[in-house]
Amino acid sequence: MDLKEKIRNVQDFPKPGIGFKDITTLLKDKDAFKEMVDIMADNLKDLDVDVIVGPEARGFLTGAPVAYAVGAGFVPIRKPGKLPAETESYEYELEYGTDKIEIHKDAIEKGQKVAIIDDLLATGGTMEAAVKLIEKLGGEVVSIQFLIELEFLNGREKFDGYNVESIIKY
Ligand code: AMP
Repeated sequence: MDLKEKIRNVQDFPKPGIGFKDITTLLKDKDAFKEMVDIMADNLKDLDVDVIVGPEARGFLTGAPVAYAVGAGFVPIRKPGKLPAETESYEYELEYGTDKIEIHKDAIEKGQKVAIIDDLLATGGTMEAAVKLIEKLGGEVVSIQFLIELEFLNGREKFDGYNVESIIKY
């Protein structure tokens, strides 16, 4: 199946000039959703992953089903103030200003093998912050999986030496 056909492009959302890649049209299709999960699970099959980390919110939708499929645990990364227990946080630069993400301090044990899954690689800023957070907790990032990669933004360059895979490329 051509999964790219299942992505809806919404021009000028959330602001003028952005071509928003809407994955809800893929997720609602039972065959496409299964194929997405199967491909990511297959990419991870020999890596002995303990935990899958998914950044809020579309990393939950893509990461949690893959965690179930490979028999790994699932850990959320969230925007500030959402996680109830003690957190580790990481602040990173945006085009204008900064952003911050958080993870529970006890979410990952030292030496655990971690795969991070998100819906889309754009500049890679969010994913780079996620990698930093996980490594701060002592996790080993063995794979980074995206459903979609915007290749023209060269976000992949931020992850030299990491195993980065994406299913759909623009
Ligand atoms: P970035 O940190 O630039 O790689 O982008 C962070 C997140 O923003 C991605 O994981 C997406 O969830 C979202 N995002 C960025 N650009 C787009 C886009 N064109 N369409 C849909 N989501 C996007």
